[in-house]
Parts: sequence; C-alpha cells; structure tokens
Amino acid sequence: MDDPVHRLSGRTLLTAIFGDPVAHSLSPAMHNAAYAALAMDRAYVAFHVTPTGLREALRAIPALGIAGVNLTVPHKERAVRMMAQLTDEALLLRAVNCVINRNGELHGDNTDARGLEADLRDQHVSVAGKLAVIIGAGGAASAAVLAALRLDAARIVICNRTIARANRLARSFAQYLGTRGGGRSRQTIEARGLDTLVNVTTMSAAAIVINATPMGLKTGGFASLSYAAAPSECVFYDMIYAREPTPFLAPPLALGRRAIDGAGMLINQGVLAFELFNGVAPPAGVMRAALMSALGRE
Ligand code: NAP
Repeated sequence: MDDPVHRLSGRTLLTAIFGDPVAHSLSPAMHNAAYAALAMDRAYVAFHVTPTGLREALRAIPALGIAGVNLTVPHKERAVRMMAQLTDEALLLRAVNCVINRNGELHGDNTDARGLEADLRDQHVSVAGKLAVIIGAGGAASAAVLAALRLDAARIVICNRTIARANRLARSFAQYLGTRGGGRSRQTIEARGLDTLVNVTTMSAAAIVINATPMGLKTGGFASLSYAAAPSECVFYDMIYAREPTPFLAPPLALGRRAIDGAGMLINQGVLAFELFNGVAPPAGVMRAALMSALGRE
C-alpha cells in the first residue's frame, strides 16, 4: 500500500487528533490507510496537546488550514465551550470528538454514540425492550446511553463510582426523553453506584453491560461484578480495546459469554469522522484492516 508519509507534498492537507496522552492512538493508522487507498493528498497526524494548550491548539486549526481534528481524552468535554457551532448531538452529550473547520469556523460534532450504535448493529446485539447496564458517567457513558436509547432499550441503569455524576447524566437524559415524542417515552433511566454490579436482581435482567470507564486500562483490575448472575445471552461490551482481553472482558470470556471490545466502535466513529473531515465516505474495510493489523488481529 502507498505510504502517505512518503508522498507528502506542498499541497498536502492535514487532519489530526489532539490528546494527552496520544502516542498510543490507532486513529492515524486507520485514516492514513483510507487516504492511501483513495489516493488523496491528505495526511492524519497525532498532536500531543495538554489541557492548558487546548484553546491555542484549537485556534491554530483555521490558521494552519487543518480540515478536521478528532479530540480524545481529556479534551472532549472542555472543547464544547470552544466551538463556534455545535451539532444537537454534541450539545446533548456535552462532549465533542470531531472538530470540523468550515471556512475558518470550528464546528463540533460527536460520533461516539453513532459509532457504538453502528457497532452493536454490525454485531447483531439486540437490546430492544431490555435492560442496558452502563458503567461510568463521563462522555463515553453519555454516548452509550444515547446509543442504548436509539436501540430501544426499555431500561437503562447507569452505575458510577460517583453517584452524583450518574444522577446528573440520568437527569439530562430524562429531560431529553421528556422532549421526545411529546414526553410519552416509556424508556427509563436510573442512576446507581458501582455496588449495583454485584446486585443479582439487576444483573440477572441485563441484556448488555457496557464499560464506559478507563477502569482496567491503567488500574489493571476491574470493579466487582456478578458476571455469572447475568443471563447466558447477556453481552459484555468494553469501550476499551487492546491486543489482549481487557480486565473487564476476561471473566465473561472464561465463562463462555459474549464479550466485545471497543475496536468496532473506534472503526465506526472513525468512518463517520473521515466523512465529516473530507466530504467523502472512506473505504471502511481498509480502515478496519489497518486497525486490526495495528492490534495484531489480522
Ligand atoms: P472520562 O470522562 O474520563 O470517564 C471517566 C468515567 O470513568 C467516570 O464515570 C469515572 O468515574 C470513571 N472512572 C475513572 N476511573 C475510575 C476508577 N479507577 N474506578 C471507577 N471508575 C472510574 O472518559 P470518557 O471520555 O468517558 O472515556 C471512558 C473510556 O471509554 C476511556 O477508556 C476511553 O478510551 C473509552 N472510549 C472508547 C471509544 C472507542 O471508540 N472505543 C470512544 C470513546 C471512549 P467518576 O465519575 O467517579 O470519576
């Protein structure tokens, strides 16, 4: 395959990701593979941007003519206040993961919920009429709540270390549900602590349990969770992706349960971001192959 780094020219247009840390990001591999496949004179690079440098880095986007930028941890929520315009979805999720340069104006969007929803559909995971348990109450958890609502989950239980934050998230979605369909939605959202993950009554009703925290990434271990209490068809979904099974997914895998990591979500949100930045649909199979190769899963 053509290597984009070796064909950079004076006309090459940039897209990028800002994060802290960012060196581990697999987004450059995915996006550059798509540019190479489409023979586009564009390149995607990673910038290590710290929280104190975020505002200046965003201001540089129009000055440098960068077409679009993905934001990752820890910038998604703070960037909301730094956009000229926000999509309804970014506003609802209170987080931006895509910044699009529209004639020098920064437009913020969020493709995480659509990326997760697309992956769950790709993997034929059905939560319609059932209970979705979501662990976490940050930007990723917010995206998971929206995806579960769009997939018609009847009941969503948000479990977070800090219950006040789970309560805030549940309240903001309760308001959203109230404005949809004239307030007649029968979908319910509850906020709980992490102790609910060992509550047999709740776990035995779960159709899906989604980890939307970095637990397991840095800490090594995961919160106590009654995997065995969940129905045999329950799906365990970790937004984290790694070469090895994550600490959240290793126990259900050992029990022979269905366990999915966040690689498919990353691909789907990346496909959507590519189209927003470049105005053309990317070859999704090429992006998938590049990611799988980077994860050693060819
Ligand atoms: P975030 O805002 O930093 O999320 C923090 C959440 O995690 C909070 O609910 C926090 O609880 C909880 N948490 C953090 N450390 C914890 C610990 N040691 N024990 C218990 N809870 C802990 O981050 P985010 O943007 O929502 O992202 C969360 C994860 O999803 C990240 O690992 C990210 O890489 C992943 N993600 C993946 C994709 C993908 O495409 N696959 C997309 C987006 C995000 P408190 O409220 O109590 O602090």
